[in-house]
Amino acid sequence: MDSKVRVRFAPSPTGGLHLGGVRTVLFNYLFAKHHGGEFILRIEDTDQSRFVPGAEQYIIDTLNWCGLIPDESTVHGGAYGPYRQSERKATYTQYAQILIEKGFAYYAFDTPEDLEEKRKQVPNFQYSRAHRMEMKNSISLSENEVTELLKKGTPHVIRIKVPDEEEVVFTDMIRGEVRFEVSTVDDKVLLKADGMPTYHLAVVVDDYLMKITHAFRGEEWLPSAPVHILLWKYLFGLDKMPKWAHLPLILKPEGSGKLSKRDGERLGFPVFAMDWSDPNTKETTIGFKEKGFLPEAFINFLALLGWNDGTDKEIFSLDELIASFDIERVHKGGAKFDYEKAKWFNQEWIKRTDNKVLATLLQPFLEAAKIEVHEAPYLVKVIGLVKDRCHLLADFIAQSHFFFAAPTTIDTAAILPKWEEKKQRFFDALVKLYAKQIAEGVKTLPAASLEASFKELAIAHEIKPGDLLLPLRIMLVGGKFGPGVFDIIESIELSDTNARIEHSLRLISGK
Ligand code: GLU
Repeated sequence: MDSKVRVRFAPSPTGGLHLGGVRTVLFNYLFAKHHGGEFILRIEDTDQSRFVPGAEQYIIDTLNWCGLIPDESTVHGGAYGPYRQSERKATYTQYAQILIEKGFAYYAFDTPEDLEEKRKQVPNFQYSRAHRMEMKNSISLSENEVTELLKKGTPHVIRIKVPDEEEVVFTDMIRGEVRFEVSTVDDKVLLKADGMPTYHLAVVVDDYLMKITHAFRGEEWLPSAPVHILLWKYLFGLDKMPKWAHLPLILKPEGSGKLSKRDGERLGFPVFAMDWSDPNTKETTIGFKEKGFLPEAFINFLALLGWNDGTDKEIFSLDELIASFDIERVHKGGAKFDYEKAKWFNQEWIKRTDNKVLATLLQPFLEAAKIEVHEAPYLVKVIGLVKDRCHLLADFIAQSHFFFAAPTTIDTAAILPKWEEKKQRFFDALVKLYAKQIAEGVKTLPAASLEASFKELAIAHEIKPGDLLLPLRIMLVGGKFGPGVFDIIESIELSDTNARIEHSLRLISGK
């Protein structure tokens, strides 16, 4: 690259950050870091009617959680600030004026009522060259009228004057050459009556002033590209325009249509990065973080939604992604979201994460489940025993609660059909054996030696050890699940084991 790569993520802070939004951040970030460049977070908050308190902080928190830290932002500062568009109002006005002076934009004085009326008269009305002469603007009115209206402070907007016949062309880094006939584009508002720019003007001005070299954004912005290209041409020159890539959509699991928040609710999985509480409706939407995803897994599966490194490698750390990322390898077509696959990534990352780190991450889940952990090393040991069985951090609770307290229900129905007198005798003897060891001051024994003495006792009772393991497991954990039975006994120790066996024996005999 000739100049330093500078990319930006430019969200409008209007709510929770959707998977697709985080993937846009990720691809921008990976590209920048791959090329030793800079990643900028710019808050596009010029649409005051869509302002949502807390949404900007939510975006910053999400980027922090993902480890995608901007080099420049409202929080990190930087040489090209302010990074919140609502604080750059005067700048946009200047550029809107330049466009007016050059004849590429015009004042429009139509009131909302005028526009409403026109929409009623003309089906599919577009404020464009076909109708602009019928409206109240500085092209249709005389110079004097316009001066008068401006002098009186008449509310007005500034619109781009889209040329009559022109084709705009650009090369998208994913799609290749893209062509648009601008005659289909309307005269978009650039500066609103409140003096705030619209997205179209602000995005072009800021990408220029912030020296953005590459801009990757969702494919839903492709239809806006012609207006942006015209503005680049009129204001700064096309040679200065960043290279664009429009990222394909993340699709519903069924394969067609954009994955929406509603799909997540329908199918029971998150779509937002983190929990989002809408301050207006007070409704909370669950996020991947709170559902129990590790950020490493989250960004790993997001990167693989529509990209691969050309091999069948699937597990990538952030550093590995940075090293291998190539925007030109992003597929053109949409990528189907597969929640089961996302959980598989999470399981792989849980396996790879240090048990002490997992212990910290599990705190909110333990608290929510009211599980009391008395000793940190014990928790770390339990994590080691069950982590391979967890797809989500939340699964840890179901997989391990019996390590912290006796199960509240015992599935005796799964024991009774095969229960017989000699099994009863065996378990009585096992309880006696452990009681003797406890009396000798033994609290617990290593799993291997517990297994050896169990087998010996089974053989003495002429029962196959295998026939005793399932009832023992159910007595200890409540059901047919959990890690190795002797690992459990080693952890919960002999006296607790005996208490659980005796309790189950009472349930079985109905006493
Ligand atoms: N503000 C736009 C958004 O909300 C940014 C689109 C772009 O990156 O140009 O996504």
